[in-house]
Amino acid sequence: MTTARKTVVSGKAAPRTLKTPQDLGAAGLLPPERLSEAEAVARRYAIAVTPAIAALIDPDDLDDPIARQFVPDGRELIVTPQERADPIGDAAHSPVKGIVHRYPDRVLLKAVHVCPVYCRFCFRREMVGPTGDGTLSAAELEAAFAYIRSRPDIWEVILTGGDPLVLSPRRLAEILQGLKAIEHVKIVRFHSRVPVVDPQAINAALIAALKESGKVTYVALHANHPREMTDEARAACARLADAGITLVSQTVLLKGVNDDSVILADLMRAFVESRVKPYYLHHPDLAPGTSHFSLEIAEGQAIVAALRGRISGLCQPTYVLDIPGGYGKAAIGASAVRQADDGCYAVSDYRGEEHVYPPKSSA
Ligand code: SF4
Repeated sequence: MTTARKTVVSGKAAPRTLKTPQDLGAAGLLPPERLSEAEAVARRYAIAVTPAIAALIDPDDLDDPIARQFVPDGRELIVTPQERADPIGDAAHSPVKGIVHRYPDRVLLKAVHVCPVYCRFCFRREMVGPTGDGTLSAAELEAAFAYIRSRPDIWEVILTGGDPLVLSPRRLAEILQGLKAIEHVKIVRFHSRVPVVDPQAINAALIAALKESGKVTYVALHANHPREMTDEARAACARLADAGITLVSQTVLLKGVNDDSVILADLMRAFVESRVKPYYLHHPDLAPGTSHFSLEIAEGQAIVAALRGRISGLCQPTYVLDIPGGYGKAAIGASAVRQADDGCYAVSDYRGEEHVYPPKSSA
């Protein structure tokens, strides 16, 4: 049985993860008039706000972008007809428990279903949490490894969940030992929020465990607002980068959190300054009770277009949509080029002005 590492120390004065509406109310992060709606949300979805995240929330700002991501909101109980429990279709591509095999050369390995925080917009919110799908047993893990071993096309294994970095270093090392022996797996990638929400957990023991597979190791850091990239979070990223782990980012585009090119520019710069290469900007998934975070694709395209002129190419993420039903990701940024009737191309510069580019000459 997998043991999740405790992210905080209990005790009178020590800060601890807030896990109930009452905890949030006592910490001044939930106004009394929202307590009963938060309790109704808590009966359906998990809550966790780490001390690092609680310290970032401005309790006097009703629209605080950090609070919006983590403090339960009564609107989470409104489910629209388009929303679905498994918005990106994991189940349709799960040949054995814990594995999602959507693309030929890579699999997800979901070893754990708990997280250090619970994001109110989570695309796997029906599966993660202390009462969720649990963690993989030793037999289930062995079945997952057997599947990976039997498919020589699997080049990359992506540990996600849940957040794999909540596992103890010992448990992580055990899992990665299992991958070490599989020759055709060359890349191991971890998707995690831990460097931001619990930066002290990125210590020497955890970093050593992350490298236990002996494969090229990536960490995809999930952060959505520049205020999340605190000095402590940046230092955690530096410890990973100094250990030879390559960092990339993933961000979810969220109404009321980061649907603004200035905010996103600050976030992408903070990533690059922390040696985290911006990778994905996700259009929000159709997870239940998340319509208050949603925006039109056209709005997202306009924000991404505005980023083009504002920040270095190093800072540009790819705007993607996970097509509902499990059909994989599609890049959905607006094209900067269109072909006119005369065969010439009209190419838009970062100001939106078009310029002509000729078709290939026949000579
Ligand atoms: S850390 Fe990831 S899996 Fe966990 S609640 Fe947030 S979005 Fe969902």
